Amino acid sequence: MLKAWVHGMIKKTDVVIVGAGPAGIGVALALEKLPGIKYVILESHQVGESFRRWPTQTRLITPSFHSNPFGLADLNAVSESSSPAIFAGAEHLSGQQYANYLAFIAHQHGLPVVSACRVHQVTPINHEGFVLDSERGSLQARFLVWATGEYQFPELSPFPGAQWCTHYAQVQNWQRFEAPDYTVIGGYESGVDAAVNLIKLGRSVRLLTRKCTWDPLGPYDPSLSLSPYSRERMYAAVDTGRLDILFGADIVQVETRKAGGYRIHAADGRYWDDAQVPILGTGFRKGGGAQQIAELWQWTVSGHIALTENDESTLVPGLFLAGPQVRHDDRIYCFIYKFRQRFSVIAQNIGQRLGLDTGALQTGSGAWGPFGNEDCCEGCQC
Ligand SMILES: Cc1cc2nc3c(=O)[nH]c(=O)nc-3n(C[C@H](O)[C@H](O)[C@H](O)COP(=O)(O)OP(=O)(O)OC[C@H]3O[C@@H](n4cnc5c(N)ncnc54)[C@H](O)[C@@H]3O)c2cc1C
Repeated sequence: MLKAWVHGMIKKTDVVIVGAGPAGIGVALALEKLPGIKYVILESHQVGESFRRWPTQTRLITPSFHSNPFGLADLNAVSESSSPAIFAGAEHLSGQQYANYLAFIAHQHGLPVVSACRVHQVTPINHEGFVLDSERGSLQARFLVWATGEYQFPELSPFPGAQWCTHYAQVQNWQRFEAPDYTVIGGYESGVDAAVNLIKLGRSVRLLTRKCTWDPLGPYDPSLSLSPYSRERMYAAVDTGRLDILFGADIVQVETRKAGGYRIHAADGRYWDDAQVPILGTGFRKGGGAQQIAELWQWTVSGHIALTENDESTLVPGLFLAGPQVRHDDRIYCFIYKFRQRFSVIAQNIGQRLGLDTGALQTGSGAWGPFGNEDCCEGCQC
C-alpha cells in the first residue's frame, strides 16, 4: 500500500499521521492493533528528526529504566515491550540515541513511514475527511493525526531585538561557543540546560530568569517546574562559582551597541551588556507545529488548543492532536510518559468510527499498565 501511494497509484487511506517523532510513532503502534486499518505516516525529514537536531550535549531529562517487567513501563518508551534504557544502555539518552531508538521501533514493527515528505497543506472536505498536499503529491484520508511537535518551531521573536540572539534550537554543539562568558535568557529547562552545558565546558554564564522554577515547595509537575535532573545539574553548576543567576529579569529588548556587543534590557529598567550573542532559552511557538494548520483548531485565550475529550479538534471533526501540546484542564501532557497515555484514546476513537475491532487496545494492567492509566494524573500526590 505504501509503495503504491509513493508511486502515485493509491490516493486514499483511512488515516494519515503527520510527523514521525515519539507521538506519531506511538499513535501508529496503537493503530497497528486495529485489524484491517490502512494508514501512513508522513514525515518531512526522517524518524526522530527533532531529536537528531538537539545540541550534542543535550540528554533526555526523564530517566530511562527497564522497569517494564514489573508493570512500570520505561518512562521514555513508546511501545509496551521496548525500553530506551536497554536499547541505548543509558539512563539519560542523547537526542541521537533516542532518534535511533524510534527508528529501530519503526523498523521492527514495519511501520509505513514515508520520509522526506513534508505536508504543506491540509484541506478538510465535508464529511469525507481531508486532502493533504505533500512533497510527494496529494493524499485523501478519512482521519488525520497531527503529531508535528514543537522543537522545529522555536519562538524566535519573544521581544524586539531577539533576531540578534541565538535560540537554543539553533545550537548544534556548545563546544562552538568558545568565548569565556555568555548570557542565557530563560530559566526553565532549555535555558538551564544551555547554562549547565556551557559551565561544563569551562565558560562563565549569567542566567537571566523571570522567576525561580526550582522552588523546593513546588509545584512538583515537571511541566511547571524544573526537573530533578536539571536541578541537580544546576546546583553543581552554581558550585563552580561561574553561574550567576539573576531573578525578576523580564527581558523586553536586546539591542546592538555602537561600541560592539549587545545590551539586554529588562522591564524593570535594569540592563546588562555582553560582547557575545545572547542565548535564548525562551521556548517554542504556542502550539508548535500545530500552527501549520492554525485555522483548523480552536485556540484558547491563553494560546492553547481546545480539544474534545478524545483529543479531536473542536472545529474540524476527524482531526486529532498527538504530542506535547495536548492539554485537558490542568493536565499538561508535555512529556513522553504523559502524552503516550493518549495514543490508545485516539486509536480507539478512530477504530470505532471505522467500525473496526478495537478489542486489542484494551490492555488491562499488564506490563503496560501505567500507559492508559490516566486516572493517576488527577490530583496525583506521588
Ligand atoms: C531540550 C529538550 C529536552 C527534552 N527532554 C525531554 C525528556 O527528557 N523527556 C520527555 O518526555 N520529553 C522531553 N522533551 C520534550 C520532547 O522532546 C517532546 O515532547 C517530544 O519530542 C514531542 O514529540 P513529538 O513526536 O510530538 O514531536 P517531534 O519529536 O518534534 O516530532 C515531530 C515530527 O514531525 C515532523 N514534521 C513537522 N512538521 C511536518 C510537516 N508539515 N509534514 C511532515 N512532517 C512534519 C518533524 O520533522 C518531526 O520529526 C525535551 C524537549 C527539549 C527541547
